[in-house]
Amino acid sequence: MLSDVQIERYSRQLILTEVGGRGQQALLSGRVAVFGAGQTSTSTALYLAAAGVGTVYVSEAATHTAVGLNPDVRLVDLGPVDRPDALDALLDGCDVAVCANVAPARGLAVNAVAIRHAIPLVCAAAAGSVAWVAVFAGHDRRCPCFHCALPDLPAAPERTPDGVAAVAAGLAGTLAATAATDLLLRRDAALVGRLTVHALGEATVRSADVARNPTCIACGTERR
Ligand SMILES: [Zn+2]
Repeated sequence: MLSDVQIERYSRQLILTEVGGRGQQALLSGRVAVFGAGQTSTSTALYLAAAGVGTVYVSEAATHTAVGLNPDVRLVDLGPVDRPDALDALLDGCDVAVCANVAPARGLAVNAVAIRHAIPLVCAAAAGSVAWVAVFAGHDRRCPCFHCALPDLPAAPERTPDGVAAVAAGLAGTLAATAATDLLLRRDAALVGRLTVHALGEATVRSADVARNPTCIACGTERR
């Protein structure tokens, strides 16, 4: 049950039909792990905190600006989570994983563990003035995983080392937080398996389905 202070704190969000009291409770009990350092992960944590997501795990620094914004939110800085067993233990207690502008190898490692724990994975990144977000659920045989989609994703950070617009990086984080909260609110039917690309310089938004690869080595063999 929301307190009077919480009703006041989330008053503008609570009146949304897609949130309401029950949805806000779902957000407050939600647990999201955010991987990645930099503006995208900071923006993700910031908006997860603003939405009232109860526990936000951050593993690669750069997100301290979100601390203290909302007393309902427990922001847990785990430091680098590099060992597979640490990653496994972390995601065992999470509802959603977010990879915010991480290198592909890191994304693949998180993807494998997310599949094992049957939790959705939100990936978002920015390169140049393009920001994109995609939602994966490799544990669901109808849906793709990050590994399935990797060849079709927009330029990964390591292939575009020469620059990213700060606004694009922030937008990617905002998109990731939006997807994560929608997953917690069970508004995920249109999200999972979709890639959305915002090209800021061209003022275009493109959205497309991502196909599951039946021979994928990640979701084809490790699925429960
Ligand atoms: Zn796959």
